[in-house]
Amino acid sequence: IIRIRDLWTQFDQFVVHQDLNLEVRQGEILSLVGGSGSGKTTLLRQMLGLEKPTRGHVEVFGEDIHRAGGARLRQLRNRWGMLFQHGALFSALSTLDNVAQPMRELGVLPEELIRDAALLKLDMVGITPKDAQKMPADLSGGMVKRVALARALALEPELLFLDEPTAGLDPDLSESFVSLISSLHQQMRLTVVMVTHDLDTLFALSTKIAVLADKRVIALGAPKEVIALPHSFIQRFFLGERG
Ligand code: ATP
Repeated sequence: IIRIRDLWTQFDQFVVHQDLNLEVRQGEILSLVGGSGSGKTTLLRQMLGLEKPTRGHVEVFGEDIHRAGGARLRQLRNRWGMLFQHGALFSALSTLDNVAQPMRELGVLPEELIRDAALLKLDMVGITPKDAQKMPADLSGGMVKRVALARALALEPELLFLDEPTAGLDPDLSESFVSLISSLHQQMRLTVVMVTHDLDTLFALSTKIAVLADKRVIALGAPKEVIALPHSFIQRFFLGERG
């Protein structure tokens, strides 16, 4: 569903990715891990078409997204959802309107259908119709995350990008958010690409892990395979993280 070939990303003289290759297949939950500054966020931005490759190709849904022009890129963007790290909602819009907004922007759906669909999406993430009337400022941190997820899923995407999905949540909230993502992944047949520093989230969710170091993907495999690599960067990374 995503294919990255010989990707170079360079900011002035500073090379972030050098001949980086990566494939994400349908149905996977692929996590990008690596030390600070290893280029995870920049890679995510490449997949979203927000960063331009210095060289190489980023194909999403079989199309080179940097060759796809404005209108085509907008169409492709409707096929993926993105949950930003801080799950930002529009503070001037109600919870319901936050989820309805991507559907309204399409400009083709009738209003009643939009409201029903938004309520349904909110129900899927455990937000009641009563809470749907509230403003974001009146929701708890955990609820804001769930509403942001409902909004990312508003257009029934095939692909979902998650940037540090459990950052800022306490362990209990984090665990329930992880199981929510896991059940939606199954229910909606999603492919997920995630950046996370949280090991519990990483191992609870990932079907595959890509380790970024030395400007490329140095290891790619199931969580068990990746952590078993004897002298892999990931062990050093985990040991470094833990102690
Ligand atoms: P972290 O885990 O700390 O979030 P990361 O792996 O996500 O790190 P990136 O945010 O992708 O790393 O950044 C990789 C490198 O590229 C960093 O050294 C960063 O300073 C640099 N960088 C990212 N964006 C730009 C930009 N727009 N202009 C210049 N340098 C940039």
